[in-house]
Amino acid sequence: MLKMFFPDIYIKSIFDLPLDDFKKRGITTLFFDIDNTVAPFDVAVPDEKTAAFFSELKKEGFKVCLLSNNNKKRVELFNRPLRAHAVWKAGKPGVKKLNQVIKRLGETKNTAAIVGDQVFTDMYCAHRAGLLAVYTEPICNRDQLITKVKRGAERIVLTIYKKRTGILK
Ligand SMILES: [Mg+2]
Repeated sequence: MLKMFFPDIYIKSIFDLPLDDFKKRGITTLFFDIDNTVAPFDVAVPDEKTAAFFSELKKEGFKVCLLSNNNKKRVELFNRPLRAHAVWKAGKPGVKKLNQVIKRLGETKNTAAIVGDQVFTDMYCAHRAGLLAVYTEPICNRDQLITKVKRGAERIVLTIYKKRTGILK
C-alpha cells in the first residue's frame, strides 16, 4: 500500500532529471508539478535557469506539461515564459484531467512521467495513472498551509522509502 506513495526515481531537483534514462524507457512527455517542484510556491514566475531548462527539454524532444492543483491565474502567469502545455486545478491525486491530457497529447501511460515534490499528491497520482513517478525534494520549506499539514506524514513515508532503497542507511 505504501508503495503507491513511493517514487520510482528520487532526485534532488529538476535539474537532475535523468533524461537519457527517460529516453531509454520511452518517456516522451514530462508532467511537472509547479509549487516547490519547479519554483517556490510563492514565486510567480520561473527564473532564467528554469526557463532555459524547459527550452532544453523541448529541444531534447520532450513534450512538457505543467500539472498543477493551483488555480488558472497562477498556472497561466507562470507558464507565460515557458509556453508549455498547462493544466490547472488538476485535481491530483485524481487522474481524470491527467488522463484527458495524456490522450490529447497523443501519449500513453507508458510514455509519460510525473515530476513532483509531494508523495500524497504527485507520486500517488502518477501510480494511479500508471505513470513513472519522479520525486524531487521540495525547493524550499515554505508551504501553503494545506501542504504544511501533510509534510509530517510525508516525511515518514519518505524515510521508509529511503531505508528500503538504501538512500538512507
Ligand atoms: Mg508541489
